[in-house]
Amino acid sequence: MTCKECGTKITHEEYEASYDVIGVALCEKHLKLIKRIILNNNTPLEAIQLFYALKERGAQPMLEWWDGNKSVDIAFSRVKLNIEIDTEYDLITHEQALKDLEESMHSFKNGFTTIRIPHLTVKYYLDDTVENILGIISSLKANIKVI
Ligand SMILES: [Zn+2]
Repeated sequence: MTCKECGTKITHEEYEASYDVIGVALCEKHLKLIKRIILNNNTPLEAIQLFYALKERGAQPMLEWWDGNKSVDIAFSRVKLNIEIDTEYDLITHEQALKDLEESMHSFKNGFTTIRIPHLTVKYYLDDTVENILGIISSLKANIKVI
């Protein structure tokens, strides 16, 4: 077993402490780092899992990226793509929906595309989610080239 962040071998204890808690295998040092990010940003665990799944496929995501107004769960700044994980999708209120729409408007103004993904989609369909995001990234890259 190796750390998903740095690739160093991890012990069974380290695996249990990370995989069983956040769903990603990390060494002690990187688990501490990720836990601090979660604590500071209230990052959903699904964002962490998606982040590492995307990294594994060769993408270059950034976790909790500060866009000048707010922290974005996962961002691809080169293609100006923001990904937010929705944890309370079923309970969305009108106010929240309007706030989300307003946030999307602001990011569009800055040339960013924001996609919101329900956390359960990441939890149960991680591979499909990753596949679709990779598709979006390559389309955005193609569009940038055209411009
Ligand atoms: Zn590590």
